[in-house]
Amino acid sequence: SGPELAAVVAGGTVDVLDFPKPGIVFKDLMPLFGDGPAFKRAVDGIIAHQSPFDVVAGVEARGFLIAAAIGYATGAGVVPVRKAGKLPRPAFSASYALEYGEATLEVHKDAFVAGQRVLVVDDVLATGGTAGAAIDLVEQAGGIVSGFSVLMELGFLDGRERLGKRPVHALLTV
Ligand code: AMP
Repeated sequence: SGPELAAVVAGGTVDVLDFPKPGIVFKDLMPLFGDGPAFKRAVDGIIAHQSPFDVVAGVEARGFLIAAAIGYATGAGVVPVRKAGKLPRPAFSASYALEYGEATLEVHKDAFVAGQRVLVVDDVLATGGTAGAAIDLVEQAGGIVSGFSVLMELGFLDGRERLGKRPVHALLTV
């Protein structure tokens, strides 16, 4: 259930004060990833909540872990949304402001078949800049975003306001 899944995510999270910069409370989800039953419940929880999709796009780097698990469990393909300069072939790129800095994401121009339904995933939704850029890239590359899912949403940053009408789902909102 929703409250059970929220508790699983909360139980697998460590708050790290002033990382990577003073004033930031970093939500470290590594304990959740490292706990087999908890990780499986979290991944299954994301899958159960979302509408049908053909492929999963994961945002570098922690989003890769979640996307690969979802892709394996559902038989969907996985597309990496990478940080600038990592992809070997022509790519679309999108720059955005982060809660703590600035970044550019890229996706291969031929990553999707036109009209493919794409579930976009990451570990944490903060200001929504990352998610907005990832969604933008998927759409530039011809995919249709079926939804955006995270393990945890920092609700006080209003990130989902930046994502328009696309279905946004978090297992835990703090
Ligand atoms: P944002 O673009 O502000 O929504 O930031 C989301 C991205 O940055 C995700 O890829 C998160 O992994 C990471 N991130 C931002 N803020 C935090 C935080 N407080 N704790 C953990 N990860 C964060």
